[in-house]
Formats: sequence, C-alpha cells, structure tokens
Amino acid sequence: MVVELISVGTELLLGNTLNTNAVFLAKECAKLGLSSFHQITVGDNFKRMYEVISDARSRTDIIIITGGLGPTSDDITKEVVANVVNKELIADDHSMDLLMTYFPAKTGQNITQNNFKQTLKIEDSIVLDNSNGTAPGYIYEDDKCIIILLPGPPSEVVPMFKNSVLPYLKKFQNNIIYSKMVKMCGIGESKVETMIIDLIKNQTNPTIAPYAKEGEVHLRITASAYSEKEAKEIIKPTILELKNRLNDYIFTENEEDLLENIIIKKLSANNLTLSIAESCTGGLLAGRITSVSGSSKIFNEGFITYSNEAKIKHLGVLEDVISKHGAISPETAIAMAEGVKNKTNSDYSLSITGNAGPNSLENKDVGLVFIACAFKESFTVEEFRIKGNRNRVREYATTYALNLLRKELFKSI
Ligand code: AMP
Ligand code: MG
Repeated sequence: MVVELISVGTELLLGNTLNTNAVFLAKECAKLGLSSFHQITVGDNFKRMYEVISDARSRTDIIIITGGLGPTSDDITKEVVANVVNKELIADDHSMDLLMTYFPAKTGQNITQNNFKQTLKIEDSIVLDNSNGTAPGYIYEDDKCIIILLPGPPSEVVPMFKNSVLPYLKKFQNNIIYSKMVKMCGIGESKVETMIIDLIKNQTNPTIAPYAKEGEVHLRITASAYSEKEAKEIIKPTILELKNRLNDYIFTENEEDLLENIIIKKLSANNLTLSIAESCTGGLLAGRITSVSGSSKIFNEGFITYSNEAKIKHLGVLEDVISKHGAISPETAIAMAEGVKNKTNSDYSLSITGNAGPNSLENKDVGLVFIACAFKESFTVEEFRIKGNRNRVREYATTYALNLLRKELFKSI
C-alpha cells in the first residue's frame, strides 16, 4: 500500500511553523510498512488544495491530511475533500452532542456560530473523536482511495493517530518493518558509499540507506518480514558484510547509542579514568561527556585552556613548544594531552587545539585542528581539516576527539 501525506496550512509554507506532523506520520507509516513516494504541503487555498488532493487520489492508496479542520473560515480541508470525492457535508449527531455537552467545559468558552462547522462530517465517513481538542478527525474510504483527515496541532494529531488511525491502518498491514542502524565515524559518506556500492545497488530486502550526520555516517538497514525474528535473520548477513568492510569505523549497531555512551561504557567497565584539555572547542567536549549519566565514574577533570598562557600555566605546556610550533600544532596538542595526564593522574587524556575561524591564526587555515590522546607512556595525534563555519568546526572537532579516544580504547583494551 502506498501512502501520501498532505500538510495543510499557509503557516507551514511561510516557514512560521515547523512541519512536525509530517515527520511523525512519515515515521509511523514507515513502521507500518507503507510505501511513501510523495509528501506535499499546501496553503489554505481551495483551488490548490483541490488539485493536490485530486492528484494524490489518482496515484495513491491512502492519503493522510493534517490541518484545516478548525472552526475558522480559513479551515477548509473537509469542504475540499467532500468536493473531491463528490460527497455532501452532513450533520453528525455525535459531534453535535459532544459540542453541546463538552465544548464549554473543555475550552472554558461559549459556543460560537463557527463551532457548528465541526459538527458536520463528510457523508459516509467515520468520525474520530478528539480527546485533546475540539476538531474531530475523519476517515473516508471508497473503492479508489482512503482519505484520513486529522487536525493540525501536533498535540492532537499524535494521540488521534495512535488511538484511532493506527488500529484502522493495521488491518492493511501484511509485514512488519524492522531496522538497525550502523553508525560510523572517521569516514566520509561518499567513501562509505564507494565501499558498499555493490550492496546498495543490489538491495531489495533488506535495504541500505546512508545518512551523513555531523561528523558521522549512519547506515539504516531495513527489512520487511512476517515477524521481527525473521526480519533480524534477513538483516544479519548484511550487517556482517558491513562489518567485514567497515569495521574500523563502526562504533555501534544500536540506534540509541552515541559515541560518548560507547566510550563511557568501555572506560567504566575497565575502571579507567579520563581528563581532557580543550582549546578551540571551549568546553563542548566536556559537555558531551558529562551529558551521559554515569560519566562521573570515569571523568576526572576538564580544562578549557583557550589562551597560550593558560596552556602554559595549567597544563605545563612549555613556552618553547608554543613559540616554536604555534598553539595550533601537533606538538602543542601532544603537550596538552600529556600535561593533563600528569596533572590529573587519569588513565586517558584527550586534547583539542585548532582554528575554528573565521580568520586564519598563526598563518594556519581555518578548520585546521589537532587532537591528541595519551595513555600510559604512549600518545597519538591526528590532524583534521574541517570545512565550514565556526560552529561546524567546533562540533566536528568534538566528535573526532571522541572517535580518536574510541579507537585508542578499543585498540588497547
Ligand atoms: P489548523 O488545524 O490548520 O488550524 O492548525 C492549527 C495549528 O496546528 C497551527 O496553527 C499550527 O500551529 C499547528 N500545525 C498545523 N499543521 C501542522 C504541522 N504539519 N506540523 C506542526 N504543526 C502544525
Ligand atoms: Mg490551518
């Protein structure tokens, strides 16, 4: 079955309201195994809404429309749908009862003439009660297409979908959809695609979809099957093959896992501690580490040593190192990491120094970042050239620092 989502509201077209209904409904429909090829936003305009709904009706099995069911004159979705399917709007006794009985109590307001609009339904449609607002929803079904009308406010759409629409749609569901997320860091999206292009080109069930995410690449592997057990079996060989090819970059196969969680779990399990020194990221790394509950078990100290003086004073970086190589250099990154380790007695230490922009510093390019990790007597330093604005450089540098620590951790433990 193919579903098409239509979001109604001029405020969506103007960018005044974020279209969260479409995000929610698209995810729910995907979970039901419904295919989706088009998603449309249209303003509160009769002619254009009529065209959009007619077009969708000619090519799809199910249309879900949100918005435009309110009492005011710009709310015309029900009228338009009635016109498209050639039906009348008729009085609905149940909606009238609800309006008369509950409206004043629910809203604390008197009934006005325009509220009676919400007591009309499309002939032959099912009315969906709205326990969180005043506008009912509707399901209209004929031999051509199913049209589901839901109100606009997300706080009404979500419960109405879960309570009334989901049970209705489940009867069309043959298969379940199950997916796993393989998350990687330290490799770009295009390189990942090149390494697995044969798998992507030959995909049927499961499917593989890549997404680039702030310094990470995620692959969603989705299978359709009669049961979750069967779907997991279908996915297994693909995950194994991905691990064969991309193992060094993969940090998790669980959608909920973040880089920082993986690291904290590993340090905790091995009773190891971490301290950090940040320059251009100004505390972002410490923020990510301490956002994970349980980080207190492994995280000792974080220094923000933004100026050269601070690097010298708090970390014991030699003035000579900075004057000879500059603050943005592998030598300074190493000296920072070693300085933190010595000052804090932590098992692992991480340091970040770089130029987040917008201007070049020490004659060094914007986006040039050095990250060092020290453990026992050894250290590693990596150079990154991160493209983009100041925030992007800082965010990516933080992710790359976590990834360097991950690699070192999994190598040595
Ligand atoms: P309506 O039922 O069209 O009067 O919409 C009522 C309110 O719901 C609008 O003012 C928006 O704030 C919100 N809304 C409508 N459509 C959406 C949507 N697609 N996503 C998020 N909010 C929406
Ligand atoms: Mg509206």
